[in-house]
Amino acid sequence: MEFCYRCSLCSKAFNIEPDLTLCPDCSRNQQRDQPLHGVLEVELRGSVGKKFEIFELLPVEAEYFPSIPVGDTPLWDAENLRKQLGFKRLWIKDDGANPTSSFKDRASYLVSAFAKKFDIQSIALASTGNAGSSMAGIGAAAGQEITLFLPKTAPVAKLVQALQYGAKVYRVDGSYDLAYDISLEYSRKKGGMNRNTAYNPMTIEGKKTVSLELYQQLGQAPDVVFVSVGDGCILSGVYKGFRDLHQLGLISAIPKIIGVQAEHSDALCRAQASGKFTAIPTSTVADSICVDVPRNGLHALSQIKKFKGEMLTVTDAEIIAAQRQLSATTGLFTEPAGAAAFAGFLKAAPTLDRQASIVLLATGNGLKDSTTAQLGIKMPETFITSVDDIL
Ligand SMILES: [Zn+2]
Repeated sequence: MEFCYRCSLCSKAFNIEPDLTLCPDCSRNQQRDQPLHGVLEVELRGSVGKKFEIFELLPVEAEYFPSIPVGDTPLWDAENLRKQLGFKRLWIKDDGANPTSSFKDRASYLVSAFAKKFDIQSIALASTGNAGSSMAGIGAAAGQEITLFLPKTAPVAKLVQALQYGAKVYRVDGSYDLAYDISLEYSRKKGGMNRNTAYNPMTIEGKKTVSLELYQQLGQAPDVVFVSVGDGCILSGVYKGFRDLHQLGLISAIPKIIGVQAEHSDALCRAQASGKFTAIPTSTVADSICVDVPRNGLHALSQIKKFKGEMLTVTDAEIIAAQRQLSATTGLFTEPAGAAAFAGFLKAAPTLDRQASIVLLATGNGLKDSTTAQLGIKMPETFITSVDDIL
């Protein structure tokens, strides 16, 4: 298999090099409050058989990956949920089962291997929390030096996790967007690799592995996939995997992808309606998808348009209720962003074909943000000292 970079805006091709992040032409007049222009995609050329290995479709050789078991996450049958909702072919992809309990490991794993291949020892990034703790964990396995910039909103568990893995953590007095800009400036001045989402082309490329796995686990592509959307990088990653499979002749059509945003962090939905991105301060209980400027917004929206995907929003109350319903029905305790995908499914259900094969992407483990999870339950307020107190 051969690989190159191709600009998602002007289609110019480039050799894959660690110093090249965005298309130099398209990113020349990049504005700070706009999504990235000139996001580079990895393009593959070659062929594989039906029983391919995922490493065959990645642009870094297997020998450079650290020894930590990323991906190959379980696809849950969720029988109770199927019965409750009347969808016989509903699955949940449990990416909280990754080593650092988040989907982001898919990107960190490839970024780590990419850095290793080019002898780059230090990696910096901004993160709402999951990507940071993920890069910290994967970096620990690879023996790399990881520097994180986390916004105030990052849940404590993710901060603790990153510190446990030995990352250098800077807490930013501001939003994820400020952390993003600071981390880019840090990398420009200090050198090393920057793993910011969409800025580093390996992030989207690593995330495509979820679609390759779905194909392998189901024996075909699903009809519909629900994905929660913040920066739009997972959305593009999911598309990229299916596009690769389509290009290789393994599937005949690209599944319908439905992107789900929180009502008050809905930049992509607004841009889809108005045709332009406007940065306004955002807030949602689903911290992983809380972004003012979706860095991969242009690219993600172009994919949605090209492949006839859909975008919808859910309220925080719907996310909290969905998290509880999923936990209590399936035993899968997912983070609020994962629950957002389920909430989106519940909202779209009346319009969906009940015979369709549908996958919900659960992006992280619920234990990563137990504070938000407490909003969906009632904590016992009293203590007992004897069974007589309750019987
Ligand atoms: Zn370009």
